[in-house]
Amino acid sequence: MTVLALEISPDRFAAGRVAPDGSVQDVQAVPVTSRAPWNSCRDLLAEVAAGSEVISVGIGTTGPIDMAAGVAAPPDIAEWQVGFGLVEATHKQFPAATVGMALDGVCAALAEQRHGVLRGVPDALVVSVSSRISGGIIVGGFVAVGRTGNAGNIGHMVMSGYNDLCDCGARGCVQAIASTSAAVRWAEERGWKGEGFAALLAAAGAGDSIAGAAVERMGTVLGQALSSVASLFDVDRVVVGGSAASAGPALWKPLGAAVAAHARIGFLSGLRVVPSQLGDTAVLTGAGLLALPPERQ
Ligand SMILES: [Zn+2]
Repeated sequence: MTVLALEISPDRFAAGRVAPDGSVQDVQAVPVTSRAPWNSCRDLLAEVAAGSEVISVGIGTTGPIDMAAGVAAPPDIAEWQVGFGLVEATHKQFPAATVGMALDGVCAALAEQRHGVLRGVPDALVVSVSSRISGGIIVGGFVAVGRTGNAGNIGHMVMSGYNDLCDCGARGCVQAIASTSAAVRWAEERGWKGEGFAALLAAAGAGDSIAGAAVERMGTVLGQALSSVASLFDVDRVVVGGSAASAGPALWKPLGAAVAAHARIGFLSGLRVVPSQLGDTAVLTGAGLLALPPERQ
């Protein structure tokens, strides 16, 4: 009897088998195809299941989602922008399985709580910063899911004084300013010629002034946003995952400086912002926890 975990991210599908201890094994991944994305996802699940009887599937997906309906509507996957019934499609493939679905940030929070740096930490914020910014909020040991399953969506918090257009339709969202792709775009608009966030970081480290300013702007805005959310939920730990986790001092110095400048109220004096150590497995691991029976989560 097999338990599967599935991750839907903006650019890849990943799936693996969930072991009794909650770890995800035999992980395979494929890029998101622009046409018929469910077909490649379905084939991936079939390959990982390898003909065994699947009794449970946990799905962690980029949002927004409608958790009650089992629908995800990620803007990066064109055919699914209007909403795709992930839970129903998975159920069709494995009729005997129970299928659970949660937002990627919620899954990352579950994973940090069980397998990451938040073991024994009851109040925390988990944020993933890559081309998208998602998050999960843990208060009193529980991960908040919200009314529709989208709690923790820190990417659409509005930052005062910024006018960057977000693909949600608003201006000044954290994601529109401080995602990796937003930082690259900001640098390109000012004449930087490299390609991608890793190159931007390398250029910043090598002293390129435009790249340095772009990464500093990103870190400053992230630090401001994290300080606001830490105050709102009275947490003392923030875990940053995604590409930002391994971005090094070019990003973490301005981020830390912004936290020091803005998280000044007394009850935040012990606030620590730390990188995730789960790498790119956080969401998949959390999806796996969704699929386990409650006593093993
Ligand atoms: Zn937005």
